[in-house]
Amino acid sequence: MATELKVQHVTENSFDIARQQLRAACEALNLPSGVYEILKEPARVYVVSIPVKMDSGEVKTFIGYRAQHTDVTGPTKGGIRFHPNVTLDEVKALSMWMTMKCNLVGLPYGGGKGGVVVNPKKLSQRELEQLSRGYIRAIVDAIGPDRDIPAPDVYTNAQVMGWMMDEYSKLAGCCSPGVITGKPLAVGGSLGRNEATARGCVFTVREAAAKLGLDLSQATAIIQGFGNAGSVAARLLNELGVTIVGVSDSQGAVYNPAGLDPYALAEHKAATGSVKGFAGGTDVDGDGLLEMPCDILVPAALENVITAGNAERIQARIVAEAANGPTTPEADEILFRRGVTVIPDILANAGGVTVSYFEWVQNRMHFYWTEEEVNQRLERMMVEAFCKTYEMSREKQVNMRLAAYMVSLDRIAKAMAARGWI
Ligand code: GLU
Repeated sequence: MATELKVQHVTENSFDIARQQLRAACEALNLPSGVYEILKEPARVYVVSIPVKMDSGEVKTFIGYRAQHTDVTGPTKGGIRFHPNVTLDEVKALSMWMTMKCNLVGLPYGGGKGGVVVNPKKLSQRELEQLSRGYIRAIVDAIGPDRDIPAPDVYTNAQVMGWMMDEYSKLAGCCSPGVITGKPLAVGGSLGRNEATARGCVFTVREAAAKLGLDLSQATAIIQGFGNAGSVAARLLNELGVTIVGVSDSQGAVYNPAGLDPYALAEHKAATGSVKGFAGGTDVDGDGLLEMPCDILVPAALENVITAGNAERIQARIVAEAANGPTTPEADEILFRRGVTVIPDILANAGGVTVSYFEWVQNRMHFYWTEEEVNQRLERMMVEAFCKTYEMSREKQVNMRLAAYMVSLDRIAKAMAARGWI
């Protein structure tokens, strides 16, 4: 046991971390051992190869994964990421986090996640389309509106979802928008879906700030990652009066204690491919940015960026995890001890899958909501999930992550008992 834990910390393997978090919450709730036994492995994992004829005429094969963690509370649900460092263990961890996220918010889903090992920035549009379609052909029997419903994740977007929905529909022989969410509006996407992850995150920041007595109009924020979640979070926080003092992406970082204009920064990134070199700020080191002074830190990129190596030096009062898995368990302990409020990923970024759920419901009803309706429902569900988590953390004197797992697992365990699994 001791050796096992040591290895986990050294390797920072996301799946080991996810299991560790799961086990801690099962123990804290004193759940029957069957709950952990069932959830410690995904129910199904697919590993596929996807041959793509490249623009050069040469054929290249890409590796794709899909993990379906559990369908105890409904069909599995979760995004697909295209990234050169995707691994099977990472996808398994992300699928487990999706189970926890969906159940924390009370969605009728279990967790799933997919990934393809590729750097999509190096593909042409035609190659990207062929890869997206090839991935769906490879997993077509495993997905479906009542089986497993993918969505966007790191480096995938609405266009990729549109191609995937089309490929599935062609193979199914009928138009099937409910198989995937995060689609373009023209093929059954939902208003508000693009902004949903960031909007949900900002609702949780607002709630946390109110509990801490932090006046947002006087507060500062640093955003790590300027993709779909980070760039919109910067804009929405700014609308609440928060000064965005630092932003980073995979290429570099900019800092300005007087504030960065999120709109101008987005334009600069669209034009140059990065936030670095932005005239409204000074270029700084990306890793160092996390440790610079701010009230709110929003990691909005990849896993394992807040670790035992930097957690002591984080200056923020609130860490809002727009990304999945940005904080290691050791860092979690350090931040908790130092009184930093961490709004855990399964809560802070649950807005994305929540509006995905709304999209799926609209697809099934063939009846579409206004953006206002979507945003109001999102706000209600995010505030409720925040309050349940906050109350649990107070009642049991545990950090917000463990509390969120406990709220979620309570629902999962009830479903398992009702189905006779435990
Ligand atoms: N990829 C997002 C997440 O990690 C959204 C998943 C979804 O909408 O199904 O939560």
